[in-house]
Amino acid sequence: MPWDALSDEQRELRDLVRTLARERIGPRAAEIDASHEFPWDVVELYRENDIFGLFFDEAHGGLGTGTLMALIAIEEVAKVCATSALILAVQELGSLGLKLAGTDEQKQQWLPRLASGEWLCAYALTEAGSGSDSAAMRTTATRDGDEYVLNGSKRFITNASVAHAYTVFAKTDPSAGHAGISAFVVEADAPGFEVTRLEPKMGISGSTTGELAFDECRIPAANLLGAEGDGFKIAMRILDRSRPGVAAQALGIAQGATDYALDYAKTRETMGKPIAQHQLIQAKLADMETECEAARGLLYRFGRMCDDGVDGAELTKASAMAKLKCGDVAMAVTTDAVQILGGYGYIKEYPVERFMRDAKITQIYEGTQEIQRLVIAREMVKESRAFLLAGVV
Ligand SMILES: Cc1cc2nc3c(=O)[nH]c(=O)nc-3n(C[C@H](O)[C@H](O)[C@H](O)COP(=O)(O)OP(=O)(O)OC[C@H]3O[C@@H](n4cnc5c(N)ncnc54)[C@H](O)[C@@H]3O)c2cc1C
Repeated sequence: MPWDALSDEQRELRDLVRTLARERIGPRAAEIDASHEFPWDVVELYRENDIFGLFFDEAHGGLGTGTLMALIAIEEVAKVCATSALILAVQELGSLGLKLAGTDEQKQQWLPRLASGEWLCAYALTEAGSGSDSAAMRTTATRDGDEYVLNGSKRFITNASVAHAYTVFAKTDPSAGHAGISAFVVEADAPGFEVTRLEPKMGISGSTTGELAFDECRIPAANLLGAEGDGFKIAMRILDRSRPGVAAQALGIAQGATDYALDYAKTRETMGKPIAQHQLIQAKLADMETECEAARGLLYRFGRMCDDGVDGAELTKASAMAKLKCGDVAMAVTTDAVQILGGYGYIKEYPVERFMRDAKITQIYEGTQEIQRLVIAREMVKESRAFLLAGVV
């Protein structure tokens, strides 16, 4: 048996997800991609097998198996279908506001329904004019008695139209910059809330990406997460913990592409032998495998740090590094996989062109790779390493 640092329980859960992915999700992946339809059958499969429970603690109806396990589940599904993996990653992204800043009442109100998968959720930070610069958002929330009234719009929101609850960020004090942003839970049937458009995309085609409109949208004041003005900090703490979900998706795509290319290279023959015997192809395969394993090291390290209770600057940096490495590896490795398949890599009969299209988004959402580099460098500049230089200068 190959060396494996996981516990028996983790291995068992991974194998369950792996089997579901291979036997039930993989055979649907090309169809999901071609139809551009949200795969409710995959959601049902997750519900039946308690897969959403991997993302929640036992007190709220989850399995309490921790962050590393949750990341492994996303990775396993992404090896065959990036859209289906994203459903899991966004259940985490959309519920983290409640987990990190919700009161006990708020957690009891929403988390059990999210842990069972009865409800799906979403995270709405980005607007047409504010992506990387999220503090420039223009959506407002004004207190009116026992309610808040939201006005504005959000763009590029994953799970738009399929989510039942959205974590929405809006300005309660538009003059206060970052400190004027607050976070809310908005249920899909709130009056004045509407999904106004869904975007056709390059990849992750079965996932919905949409525009949300808030027109005098009224929600209970009790849906405020944390205090007024806490929203930006909450948004960033969420991203620290959710970005590795994208990293896991990216790593799964990269490993899936590597596995497929390896298999293909063993059987495709040119010049009298399998292309896996040509050294230039071997070099590509070796680099793909090594890059996947290096990316996995950063990702699993983040999972173990989280499970050990690490928080703050150290976690922020580890999260950004995992996302940066896994996203870049996914893009490079899937491009090489297409190359290894030659002409067959470019046509839709084979899955690697889908892997390559799906990989691209992992370098863009939940903070672009440029933003990850800014985050990592910002944390590095704060660190003191003078002791390392003692005796050198
Ligand atoms: C399919 C999809 C799903 C998404 N899902 C969600 C979601 O569920 N929720 C949500 O809130 N958002 C979501 N997004 C939005 C996504 O997070 C943003 O698109 C992303 O953060 C980039 O923002 P932007 O598109 O406004 O690009 P911009 O911020 O305009 O950036 C454009 C380019 O400039 C670079 N750049 C920007 N600022 C700097 C800087 N300071 N230094 C160096 N380079 C810089 C960027 O890296 C990028 O290359 C999604 C987007 C897509 C495409």
